[in-house]
This record gives sequence, C-alpha cells and structure tokens, in this order.
Amino acid sequence: MAIFKRFSQKTVLSQIEKEQLFIMPKIRVTKRFHFEMAHTLFEYDGLCRNIHGHSYNLEVTLIGEPRRQPGHPKDGMVLDFADLKNIVKTQVVNRFDHAFMVNSLVPEKQIELLKKTTNRLIIVDFQPTSENIVTYIAKILQQHLPSDVSLFSIRLYETVTSFAEWFASDNE
Ligand SMILES: [Zn+2]
Repeated sequence: MAIFKRFSQKTVLSQIEKEQLFIMPKIRVTKRFHFEMAHTLFEYDGLCRNIHGHSYNLEVTLIGEPRRQPGHPKDGMVLDFADLKNIVKTQVVNRFDHAFMVNSLVPEKQIELLKKTTNRLIIVDFQPTSENIVTYIAKILQQHLPSDVSLFSIRLYETVTSFAEWFASDNE
C-alpha cells in the first residue's frame, strides 16, 4: 500500500499507456454476409441430387493486431470493416450470388444444357457441399487479404440449423 501511494495517478496512467504501446493484443473481427446460390450434389443418394438453392449466410473472421498509430484514421482497427466488406463482396458474394454451382463430374451434355439456362454457372472440381464451399472460400480469401491480417475462421450456414466451419488452426 505504501509503495502504491508513492505513485501519483499521472505516473500510473503513464505506465498503462506505455504497456499499451508495447503489448499488442491480437483481436478477431467478424463480418457477416449473405448470398443465394443453387447447387446440385452429383450422384448424391438424397434430395440434394436435385437442383435446389440455399440462402447462405457467411461469417468471415480475421485476426490481427489493431493499428497503433494515434491520429491515423484507421488507428485501433485490425482491418477497416469497409475493406473487409469490399474484399468478400468482390471475391465471393458478387460471384456466388444467384449462381449455380456444379461439380465438374456432371456429364458434359448436362453442363452444356445448364449453360443455356444460366450465365452464372460455377463449375468446380469438387462436390459443392458446405464443407467444400467453405474450404474454397478460405482459399480465395487467403489470396486477397492484406499481409498484416490473417484469416482466422469462416462459418458457412447452408440452412438456419446447418453450418460448416473452416479454421486456420485446423489446417496448418
Ligand atoms: Zn443443398
């Protein structure tokens, strides 16, 4: 107690300020997105072999150190939410929304027919399950994020009660 009283409040505050300068907390930030997309599961033994759509909800979580640059307009931000929105919208949502995702194993004749009915056909070399789509989105976003932030996780809701998650720590 006696030792504590020796410090004025100003001195204590100054120490906290110094600590804040040197201890860089890692913070996760998340933004939610939404897109409508059709798909079909090739050779699947259930209803999802039929062409149908989902209202996908996507949550993208980044991790990084908030910028420590007093006076800078982005001071205290891991990444401006507007920048995160722009990256995910451009690279994922605008491409996937109202598109039809099909497995490249679908016979070419069917693919040709589908091309006549939609100009938003996404042919992928995997079965378009939520698990595979979330992995695909992770690969896309990792290529487009600034180098000072990392993709921490992605959650993709196929329905209100079903979602798949990708975590960087699971895939190192
Ligand atoms: Zn489905």
